[in-house]
Amino acid sequence: MTTVDEEDAFEAIVIGGGLAGLSAAYRLAQAGRSVLVVERGASCGAKTFTGGRLYTYSLRELLGERWREAPLQREIDREVISMLTDTEAMNVDTTFADPAGRSYSVLSTPLVAWLAEQCEQAGAEIIPGATVTGLVIRDGVVRGVRMGDEELTSALVIDAEGINPLVFERAGLVRRLAREDVAVGVKYLFKLTEEEVDRRFTTSDRRGTAMLGMGAVTKGLFGGLFLYTNIDSVSLGLVVDSDSWREHGHSLVQTAEDLRQHPAVGRYVAGGELVEYGAHLVYEGNVDTLPQLFGDGWLIAGDAAGFCINRGFTIRGMDYAIASGIAAGETAAAALAAGDVSATRLSAYKARLEGGVLADMAKVRGAHHWMAHTPDLFSTYPALAVGLMRDMFTVDGGPLVPVRSTLTGTVKKVPKKLSTALNLVKGVRSL
Ligand SMILES: Cc1cc2nc3c(=O)[nH]c(=O)nc-3n(C[C@H](O)[C@H](O)[C@H](O)COP(=O)(O)OP(=O)(O)OC[C@H]3O[C@@H](n4cnc5c(N)ncnc54)[C@H](O)[C@@H]3O)c2cc1C
Repeated sequence: MTTVDEEDAFEAIVIGGGLAGLSAAYRLAQAGRSVLVVERGASCGAKTFTGGRLYTYSLRELLGERWREAPLQREIDREVISMLTDTEAMNVDTTFADPAGRSYSVLSTPLVAWLAEQCEQAGAEIIPGATVTGLVIRDGVVRGVRMGDEELTSALVIDAEGINPLVFERAGLVRRLAREDVAVGVKYLFKLTEEEVDRRFTTSDRRGTAMLGMGAVTKGLFGGLFLYTNIDSVSLGLVVDSDSWREHGHSLVQTAEDLRQHPAVGRYVAGGELVEYGAHLVYEGNVDTLPQLFGDGWLIAGDAAGFCINRGFTIRGMDYAIASGIAAGETAAAALAAGDVSATRLSAYKARLEGGVLADMAKVRGAHHWMAHTPDLFSTYPALAVGLMRDMFTVDGGPLVPVRSTLTGTVKKVPKKLSTALNLVKGVRSL
């Protein structure tokens, strides 16, 4: 049994003040445990990076009814799936009458900063502008963190470093991030007025649009675009598979620039002031390559643990960061109360996740591989979809073409191999 030492500076130390780390700290503080969050950014939120859509169920679980006080942007009621050629797009555009607050666009910096305030009010301590450089490990048990020459001990450490958990990697607790585990994301934030966002997206009352798209915007390679409307700005970006990207040698900067200029996409941000631009890794590994999630005196949550699912039409990392942070915080609080922070006790964390993120990841374990090995998805099919629409809506005085002929003409262009059909069935199953 690994026990709690009275001499420790804190009962728990959390590495990283992003959504995962702060959610864990909030739960620990609520349970009356002494907890410190170490964040290397000048403030919590200063270094976080996301596309911008949060599924709110886990925020509700964390905060109860107070989730409504969080600085969210627009409630998403309109979903657009776009298939693009170099100059055109075919959109499937759906507006829901009652989105029921299930998802909002967000700007991560104010959201994370606000959550840090809630943590402090609940009793957690936060040191911003400090980097954890290593772990204190005694007899194989994690007993605190090092920040340069300084050593801070604790009964338990929660790692929430984000996608590249170097501290845990150096300690040999997680393996090195591999290229096939990650995609690369680029994001622009364009400032407009609230009225202009409403006008361009034909909306009002702080309702918002989420658009995901695929095709020529990623040069026909595995990846896609995202666009989210905020109150008075628009987040626009790309996520591309790092493996196929490297193989083809395209410039990501130029591809992002081309996206911005794309006639069917650029119109939404034209004339907006570019107020933010950045790139970041996105986790794309799968449930079979996740690290060990707990050990003697430690737990790992959020991106650091690899909890992110990109299904092409949804990207989910923030909700899992919060949900795994809650599970880590609650497991840690119970272990501290019992005076036992051994791996056996902390294994309850994994058991909890098995009903959530781990089950979700297991269901889509084949999706990444399928998308990566089905290039038609990002070239042939978008071109066919746009072509079908063009044929149906072109009236130029020539002989009328019945819809059935237009459809048959398009179907004839679909690759006819049995393997294509089987691959599509396999793909739908994997999603
Ligand atoms: C382009 C892009 C688009 C995305 N779109 C979406 C989306 O629309 N919806 C969605 O749900 N998810 C999306 N994601 C994923 C989502 O952003 C992440 O899954 C989520 O932010 C992870 O939160 P986290 O708290 O685990 O990690 P992070 O937000 O990365 O937080 C980790 C924190 O740890 C700190 N830190 C790191 N190392 C140390 C250290 N040694 N010492 C002290 N502090 C340290 C960092 O400064 C950082 O603040 C997207 C990601 C990208 C890159």
